[in-house]
Amino acid sequence: MDKNKAKERIAYLCRNIDLHNYRYYKLSDPSVSDKEYDDLLKELKDLEEQFPEFKDANSPTSRVGVKIASDVKAVTHQVKMYSLDNTYSTEDILLWHKRVLAGLDGQKVEYTVELKIDGISASLLYEKGKLVLGSTRGDGVKGEDVTHSLRTIKTIPLVLHTENVPELMEIRGEVYMDRQDFERLNAERKKNDEIVFANPRNATSGSVKLLDSRITAKRHLKFLIHSYGIAEGVKKFDTQWQFLNLAKKWGFVVEANSRLCVSIEKVLDFCEEYYKKRDSIPFDIDGVVIKVNSLAQQEQLGFTMKSPRWAVAYKFPARQVTSIVKEIVIQVGRTGVLTPVAELEPVECGGVIITRSTLHNFDEVSRLGIDVGDRVLVERAGDVIPKIVKVIEHSTGKSGAFKIPKNCPVCGKNIVKENSEEVAYRCVNPLCSARLEKSLTHFASRGAMDIEGLGEVVVAQLLEQGWVRDLADIYLLNKDDFLKLKLFKDKKASNLLEAIEQSKKQPLSRFVFGLGIANVGEKVASVLAERYLNLDNLLKCSQEELLGINEIGPAISVAVYEFFHSKDAVKLIKKFRAAGFDPSQEVRQKSGKLAGKKFVFTGEMDLMSRADAAKLIETLGAEVMAQVSKLTDFVVAGRDPGSKFKKAKELGVKIINEKEFQEMING
Ligand code: NAD
Repeated sequence: MDKNKAKERIAYLCRNIDLHNYRYYKLSDPSVSDKEYDDLLKELKDLEEQFPEFKDANSPTSRVGVKIASDVKAVTHQVKMYSLDNTYSTEDILLWHKRVLAGLDGQKVEYTVELKIDGISASLLYEKGKLVLGSTRGDGVKGEDVTHSLRTIKTIPLVLHTENVPELMEIRGEVYMDRQDFERLNAERKKNDEIVFANPRNATSGSVKLLDSRITAKRHLKFLIHSYGIAEGVKKFDTQWQFLNLAKKWGFVVEANSRLCVSIEKVLDFCEEYYKKRDSIPFDIDGVVIKVNSLAQQEQLGFTMKSPRWAVAYKFPARQVTSIVKEIVIQVGRTGVLTPVAELEPVECGGVIITRSTLHNFDEVSRLGIDVGDRVLVERAGDVIPKIVKVIEHSTGKSGAFKIPKNCPVCGKNIVKENSEEVAYRCVNPLCSARLEKSLTHFASRGAMDIEGLGEVVVAQLLEQGWVRDLADIYLLNKDDFLKLKLFKDKKASNLLEAIEQSKKQPLSRFVFGLGIANVGEKVASVLAERYLNLDNLLKCSQEELLGINEIGPAISVAVYEFFHSKDAVKLIKKFRAAGFDPSQEVRQKSGKLAGKKFVFTGEMDLMSRADAAKLIETLGAEVMAQVSKLTDFVVAGRDPGSKFKKAKELGVKIINEKEFQEMING
């Protein structure tokens, strides 16, 4: 880079980083990911090293945090609060270790390793053992007075637990929020239509800076001690490790995984171990802090403008990154549910390249106010699929321009939201090719008809050829058809044909599951098959009967009823039969003295709970129904029976009381 360009770039980077610092430290609302920020800072550092003549005395590379605003109560730290230098790899750590050894003229060195808690730095001033002041780090020299907030944190002792009270003690540590508390807070904010926090760190920062400490108190903030500033009149400690142990006695919490390492190899082992264990820690950590243990050696090594030379942070690969939404595509699932998915500019996050992220449903789309072209913050934690946390910058300058389509993006038919509680929109067309492709793959899958060889690739070709327009069409295909598909030879075609033929022997339960009726999984399909035994009975099922089945809730009963009473289903089943496939279910002989009897319970029972009663009669061969119908044999009425009692009377179903019920099962 030539000199003029370098000068310009350095000035630009300084301005840009200052702005990011302001957003991050003051507003708790960063507009770039930490990784991007770190990259900018590194670029600036490298350029300043190459062109020292352009380095500004106020450059962000030599400053900690951000200057605090004039409208907050400032606190001058007795001893400057430093930041830490970063390392990103084993090589980086070994280079730093080499510098430490050089600085110590080759003395033997021990290190303490502590998890790098991703919270906010705080300083606590104790006078004669009493907490008198709590502050943020600010620019390292001056911080904000947040005593009122920090006092609400239960892991901060208001009085030190010691008889040898230090005259003056500045304690430094990290205020943070457990992930669980963060999720809870965000869920509540979502419910109240408030902006959610991007991560626990931002939530902590926002909470500490609140003026009303009653709200802070509800946020469950915690504090872990890791350092100190001024220490006057203190019983002497010679190492960081001794300091941590003393602090525990004073009533502070020291992060429990901290360790003393006798060699750099042990340090590297610790870094690797906790990179893997990262997700099992209940709060966010973004790395490991490595510190020279001996205080005498620390003094010998000293500080740079920004950070100690005796400590370094090893940073884990980033988990939050930003990207641009290239497109929002809408996928149609096999039950017709429309799922919006954001296609992203490829970006690396936590070691994988992310190109897309599901937006789940249109409620989420409007909550995020997301649209094509927007810059978004993407997060990927552990094996969890990537999610879009928030929009950082709207391409149009305003939120929420993306419109819910009126028609299915694949077949063009109507889409509906079946009821007001449901968040999903569905394509109503059972012949929609997107639905059909997924329906067919599901129908042929292992848990359903188990047709080996009829996977996604073959299904897509069959649809492309136009040979299959519904599930029953696969039973009309012949060997010549298969031989026309890509990569099909004689043997493969015969095998597939045979697998299709064999599937005709599958029981009704698998067939019902294979139909892909909304919310009908394997268990519900089995219950339906055992109850109805064949397709004729299913085509005649009534709402009342379905509601009476214990395992089936109202939403499923409506879906099943509507499916078997639709013209499409009648036509489809006719086609299956014409193709020689008419599944049924073997009657499972129920044994026991109440075999085949159907019971409904109503009212409070005194001698046993309803759940126990249900279990008991099931072991005797009977069945519990949720609703009273003509099929019910007995209604067991406890105290204060409800509407089922009335219904039983109307229908003339036999009603027995709890005593009679006991006699029946015991007699
Ligand atoms: P830092 O958070 O990377 O590291 C220093 C801090 O680590 C210390 O001040 C201390 O509070 C904390 N820490 C946690 N555990 C510790 C332990 N066991 N021992 C000692 N210290 C421990 O540095 P920083 O200066 O606070 O922040 C810089 C980082 O913040 C950047 O690297 C970047 O990732 C992020 N940042 C992001 C933006 C943005 O816009 N996204 C802006 C500014 C800063």
